[in-house]
Amino acid sequence: MPFRLEATYARALPALAQSWRATTPSNPSMVLTNPALATELGIDPAWLGTPEAVAALSGAEAIDGTEPVALLYAGHQFGSYSPRLGDGRALLLGEIVTDDSRRFDLHLKGSGRTPFARGGDGLASLGPMLREYLMGEAMHALGIPTTRSLAVIETGDSVRRETMLPGAILVRVASSHIRVGTFQYAAATGDINLVRALADHAIARHHPRALESDQPYLALFDAVVETQAALIAEWLLVGFIHGVMNTDNMTISGETIDYGPCAFMERVDPLTVFSSIDQGGRYAFGRQPSIGQWNLARLAETLLGLIDDDPEQAASAATEVLGTFGERFSARWHAGMRARLGLTEHRDGDETLNEDLIATLHERGLDLISTMRSLSTHLRGARVDLGGWTERWETRLATEGREPMTVAAEMDLVNPFVVPRNLAVQQALDTAVAGDLTEFHRLMSELADPYTQRDGLDDLALPGPAAPGFRTFCGT
Ligand code: AMP
Ligand code: MG
Repeated sequence: MPFRLEATYARALPALAQSWRATTPSNPSMVLTNPALATELGIDPAWLGTPEAVAALSGAEAIDGTEPVALLYAGHQFGSYSPRLGDGRALLLGEIVTDDSRRFDLHLKGSGRTPFARGGDGLASLGPMLREYLMGEAMHALGIPTTRSLAVIETGDSVRRETMLPGAILVRVASSHIRVGTFQYAAATGDINLVRALADHAIARHHPRALESDQPYLALFDAVVETQAALIAEWLLVGFIHGVMNTDNMTISGETIDYGPCAFMERVDPLTVFSSIDQGGRYAFGRQPSIGQWNLARLAETLLGLIDDDPEQAASAATEVLGTFGERFSARWHAGMRARLGLTEHRDGDETLNEDLIATLHERGLDLISTMRSLSTHLRGARVDLGGWTERWETRLATEGREPMTVAAEMDLVNPFVVPRNLAVQQALDTAVAGDLTEFHRLMSELADPYTQRDGLDDLALPGPAAPGFRTFCGT
């Protein structure tokens, strides 16, 4: 085996990790591998093509000296609390430590039923696993913190959904799988020592600067608030809708996790929902910041006993930190908009300029990505009409006195030219599941370079035809 796995999480927190073995797939074969990620992890990419890799990464054979575990967690799903979720169809193989001492979880999704499977079959089908792979890589290329995928393996078994579908396992790489829901599970046991051990592990792994504080657990909470405010601002800046922001799908690390019914919005509207399971619009595009804050309140509740012995003191300290979420999110979002509009300094009125742009896009039903991208073209002479907004922006730009061609070039480095468009992604997945990955590979390679303008990419650069009722389905 070209790498060694550690198990610091399972060792430190045995109450949150249940030893379990994957179901042996009947005829596993590699569908897709990620050589670039392998290299980053210090794994020889050539190894991914070997039978040993297929056996190890499908869970068919244990990796020397390791014991896979199913992780325990709870969570609020669409606002209602489930005390026991956990990895129902997933397993943590272990942790890889890179040469530069970064630690990553190697995790399987679709590896068979576990004690937490409840009514589920423990399986995953190929389409949704390819979708998670593609979305994660696209987000990574956009510079947005995310879990990634090392491989997709076909199991050779069929999975029963509305129809029979090819089964698959996704090999997921994450800086950890500690979620808000993990803290909820630990707190619900009533064992404060378990919550403390989890918090200590999370601090050491993700937010070590919290140790410099005389209130490390409050500082941990503060760090998670900061990292989630930053993450959700990034989502909104690119029109990303997560789709299932349950507390079990929100990480402590600040990485995007669990790509199920997610999508990129194609016509600006804060109420946009794609997910077939989000009927109330709880996780609509524009609601993501407030849902993020709601989830963080659930995290705060689990930490109160660590923050202060006096419950009132603890609650008021946590509430104060939670209250910073809005301004932190806003500061990140406005800073992102400023860069995208080619502005380098902050001036009074910038917030209104940003908000008015979004309002204008909404009123006109315009696409965020391609319209933002067209603003550099506007500076180069191809005028963009946004009902007077463009002229206000140009007046504002002029106050900085920078050369418009320089500004335009800088804008093109931060306004994506291509993102995963719903129709293109769906078509690529359909042909991939039917056995032809040509289109899927083309999308992957184009999305790896989101910022360079080039011809022939209308399907990724421009919004698809308005498709009322377009729905994405959960990662089953
Ligand atoms: P998700 O909505 O994908 O975040 O999953 C929520 C919970 O349902 C987690 O505990 C999953 O492990 C579990 N789950 C989802 N699909 C399945 C399945 N097919 N079999 C067993 N458990 C599942
Ligand atoms: Mg999940």
